[in-house]
Amino acid sequence: MSVPAGYNLFMRIWDVPPELLCDRHLLGEHNEAHALWSIIINGLKGFSNHPETARWRGKLRALYLRHEADASEMERRGFRHRSPLDEALATGKAVQDELKDPIEAQERLLSERDQDCAEKILRSKRRT
Ligand SMILES: [Zn+2]
Ligand SMILES: [Zn+2]
Repeated sequence: MSVPAGYNLFMRIWDVPPELLCDRHLLGEHNEAHALWSIIINGLKGFSNHPETARWRGKLRALYLRHEADASEMERRGFRHRSPLDEALATGKAVQDELKDPIEAQERLLSERDQDCAEKILRSKRRT
């Protein structure tokens, strides 16, 4: 088990619902969830001090649930998902309660970055 070749922790796990992410952000986040999972479980050097790793350490249950949410959103969009995580290892806190930025700031960051995210976020606001 290792981090995929060429992988960089430039992405992050967002705290907004996966439905609000564009395909690119959703797939990127899904990869990141797998990478973080192996980094934390295998104690991989080099990434263990990254802030995003620290944020998820001790919260494998929450990471597991986020991955499940990403995977079902991927399937809803027609992507195939064949990389389940081992639920037996999903220990620790079930909720990610340490946000890097408030939800609104995350929505703003995503909206500024690309049009697809901006539209999904805007549409979700109109529904509520
Ligand atoms: Zn996006
Ligand atoms: Zn997966």
